[in-house]
Amino acid sequence: MKLLSVNAGSSTLKFRLYEMPEEKILTKGNFERIGTEEGDYTIRVGDEKVHKTAELRDHNDAVHILLEELVHHHIVESLDEIVAVGHRIVHGGNKYSKSVLITDRVLKEIESISDLAPLHNPAALRGVHAFMEAIPNAKMVACFDTAFHQTIDEATYLYPVPYEWYIKYDVRKYGFHGLSHKFITEKMTSMLEKKPNLIICHIGNGASISAIRDGICIDTSMGFTPNAGIMMGTRSGDIDYSIISYIMKKAERNLEWVDNKLNKSSGLQGIAGMNDLRDIDRAYLANEQKVVLAIEMYTNKIVDYIAKYYIKLGGKVDAICFTAGGGENDDIIRKEVVSKLYPLGVSLNEEKNKETIVRRGVEGVISTDDSSIPVYVLATDEELMIARDTYEIID
Ligand code: ADP
Repeated sequence: MKLLSVNAGSSTLKFRLYEMPEEKILTKGNFERIGTEEGDYTIRVGDEKVHKTAELRDHNDAVHILLEELVHHHIVESLDEIVAVGHRIVHGGNKYSKSVLITDRVLKEIESISDLAPLHNPAALRGVHAFMEAIPNAKMVACFDTAFHQTIDEATYLYPVPYEWYIKYDVRKYGFHGLSHKFITEKMTSMLEKKPNLIICHIGNGASISAIRDGICIDTSMGFTPNAGIMMGTRSGDIDYSIISYIMKKAERNLEWVDNKLNKSSGLQGIAGMNDLRDIDRAYLANEQKVVLAIEMYTNKIVDYIAKYYIKLGGKVDAICFTAGGGENDDIIRKEVVSKLYPLGVSLNEEKNKETIVRRGVEGVISTDDSSIPVYVLATDEELMIARDTYEIID
């Protein structure tokens, strides 16, 4: 059975076409600059990457072109072969603790929580509507980034703010990157053949850490929005909220300006003046002082959360897992983090750490045999998680 896994942003649409249950990728690609006359897209045809420009006025244009290309390149013979489309939806609010088949009611509910993710949910919905119009016979499935974290308990997801903010305005911790945390949890469940206790470090440009007990999420570092938690590529993570009003006054700027700075010019970018971990690593090896400082701060924040979750898990941790672009490939960050975990008896096999680079096709354990907790490096795959959930729902 063929199904599409789709991630639609405000001006982008990433896709993969899978043959399920074999999990074979038939093609993949992405559309960029949707909403302009000069959009462009890539689609993989066999071993070739086809790149074209096109007028992409909206998501409907992108979806039509995508479907035409699938037929044109004989990736499908008929659009009826596409049985379902799984859509990544950033916010499922309080309502969704798993992926669901999209009905009119579900569409309305996703719309009704758009205030919680004003940049992301409306864009994803545009993707859903475009596919519903173009291939009305295909089933649509919503896969939420928040769903996996819905098992977090009240004492953990509430903020110590007026309770009515939660009741009236839905202010609480939601957590994000759920598709990735779920993927890694399932991978470890099958590797360890048990419902494991895990600390998962998803270190991408955006980054979050989750605590998993018996295969279930009990806490995560992101919060009401993806801006909370550890220091990230361009986001501050947790800070004293009073800085916001102080800077507004001192710099004579409005809230939008400060918000933008905390989102796009903070984190590694704010301290080191760069946010890509590959650039950061090069500068670190050249001993650039701002970058050395940034890495010290960055890894401290990760260790703070690992320590906190170690306690939450009662010291019973089956594995610490690194994943996402940085976690999978950045041996320098991993080394700095693990070296700071020595009070817990966690120790790194430096050679294995250097060799274990997912980009080169290597994943696995990077800790020493006598490490108190094994440390894993694992490839995450949010698109495949969407495809699996979608397949399970429609099968
Ligand atoms: P996002 O989806 O948040 O953009 P990704 O999971 O794609 O995040 O990860 C992006 C991050 O991964 C970037 O900061 C990038 O520097 C880092 N990364 C990718 N490849 C490498 C590598 N070979 N070495 C170090 N860091 C890497």
